[in-house]
Amino acid sequence: MEVADGARPRVLVVGAGLAGLGAAQRLSSSRAFPHLRLLESTGRAGGRVCSQRFGSEVVEMGAHWIHGPSKENPVFQLASDYGLLDEEAMSEENQQIEVGGHPLLPAVFYSSAGRVLSPELVEGVRNLFSTLLDQTREFLHVPQVSVPSVGEYLRKEIAQQVKEWTDDDETKWLKLAVLNTYFKLECCVSGTHSMDHVALGPFGEYAMLPGLDCTFPGGYGGLPDCMLTSLPKESVLFHKPVTVVRWGGSYREESQEGRTFPVQVECEDGERFLADHVIITVPLGFLKEHHETFIDPPLPPRKADAIRQLGFGTNNKIFLEFEQPFWPPDCQLIEVVWEDESPLVEAGTDLQASWFRKLIVFLVLQPPERYGHVLCGFIAGKESEYMETLSDAAVLTALTDVIRRLTGNPHLAPPKKVMRSQWHSAPYTRGSYSYVAVGSSGDDIDALAQPLPEDAADPRPQQVLFAGEATHRTFYSTTHGALLSGWREADRLLSLYDTSESHQHKPRL
Ligand SMILES: Cc1cc2nc3c(=O)[nH]c(=O)nc-3n(C[C@H](O)[C@H](O)[C@H](O)COP(=O)(O)OP(=O)(O)OC[C@H]3O[C@@H](n4cnc5c(N)ncnc54)[C@H](O)[C@@H]3O)c2cc1C
Repeated sequence: MEVADGARPRVLVVGAGLAGLGAAQRLSSSRAFPHLRLLESTGRAGGRVCSQRFGSEVVEMGAHWIHGPSKENPVFQLASDYGLLDEEAMSEENQQIEVGGHPLLPAVFYSSAGRVLSPELVEGVRNLFSTLLDQTREFLHVPQVSVPSVGEYLRKEIAQQVKEWTDDDETKWLKLAVLNTYFKLECCVSGTHSMDHVALGPFGEYAMLPGLDCTFPGGYGGLPDCMLTSLPKESVLFHKPVTVVRWGGSYREESQEGRTFPVQVECEDGERFLADHVIITVPLGFLKEHHETFIDPPLPPRKADAIRQLGFGTNNKIFLEFEQPFWPPDCQLIEVVWEDESPLVEAGTDLQASWFRKLIVFLVLQPPERYGHVLCGFIAGKESEYMETLSDAAVLTALTDVIRRLTGNPHLAPPKKVMRSQWHSAPYTRGSYSYVAVGSSGDDIDALAQPLPEDAADPRPQQVLFAGEATHRTFYSTTHGALLSGWREADRLLSLYDTSESHQHKPRL
């Protein structure tokens, strides 16, 4: 028997990042869900995918690469279907390359003593670090690990290795300083203040896909824009921050006698929406700050613990435009080595005096014919959060001093323009991405992803569902993890109502 449209379930999606858009796109392609609303707090779609103009070009304030662009990667597939990628990225050859993380770009290592370090020295240290890092992924099924964190494991191993080094003292210190650079780089990758915060046991659970990381020639933001266009226009409401999600109730609309809804969502402006189901895709950073008041009745203890225990740190970008490059023409990556630092010596904690030391790498935006001479610096952790509190002028002055010191040229012209992300201050994000922190595990990710009511014996259909990168056990912190999590929750609803459509994986373009 045909169900009348009015009787069909109402679904709300909170957040228009890739998880929310993915969920909405999949649901809107099914006849079972004509009553779909997407509520977004800000004035744009994309969330942590955020392309912005920097002069005449577009740069990425959030996600930059498709990590592992190959068949299994849904972001790659969707972007290819929309025609957003260039031929090289889509080539079979590109898809088959396995780099196990970030691609190796031609790099120059500048040191705080104003010199360029020898590629041989750097290569040896890089090989050592990457071997040790590979080892940290082997503890997944080990019942008891000797140290709790990736950082502590790495330092323990390095301390052992140093004893066997036969180099002179200066070379030893320099090698340790380069190792420290790699620690800071890993902080950017994991979006954490220190690798001592990243849990060792579950570290190997993060999965990497084949394919040489690629970018969007027209900006990553083209992807959420295309996804948004495919949704019914009236279904997406911007500037609608949700303040509370009430569930387990029996809410009635004045106009609709007889029908009650278990979910009521209230926005900052007081407007209320009733629904049968709500898919929450807000970032873990937002949940950490607000979960106690955001969800009513409050989350079960297991879920609240997961929110507290999982990690959500900050990684920011600082774009600098120069009149003339100070780096060699073929250089695509500038790495910074502070010669007085070592992973075996505790770092200073005076943020004001030394925040800029955490900015550890600059990507040279390619190609120069298009971007001019633009560097994208990466900075993670508390130093990154401190940087957010400074003015553009203060950031520019500090980084000019750093670059003059690195190049040994006290007269080097300052960058002519600066722009940076401020993900920790962003009220609806409160950081950059999630990681599995010491004291948590992949089980916490699964607990976070569990819909409410949680009890399998509860006869009520699931009312509150959770998506977002932090709910994907193996692809957390990525755009593909976010998109897959949105599809997962849409499929959960599709299977509740219309099993024949739940496995139809092709979204409506
Ligand atoms: C600096 C940086 C670099 C990155 N680089 C990469 C990369 O190169 N490759 C990669 O794969 N990933 C990268 N990521 C991670 C990637 O961007 C995210 O994992 C992914 O975009 C998250 O999508 P999401 O839908 O889960 O969350 P979001 O994109 O954060 O979407 C959540 C949405 O919810 C909205 N919201 C929040 N609170 C409310 C509320 N109360 N009411 C209504 N709406 C609300 C937000 O405004 C937002 O639009 C990067 C992230 C950052 C910050």
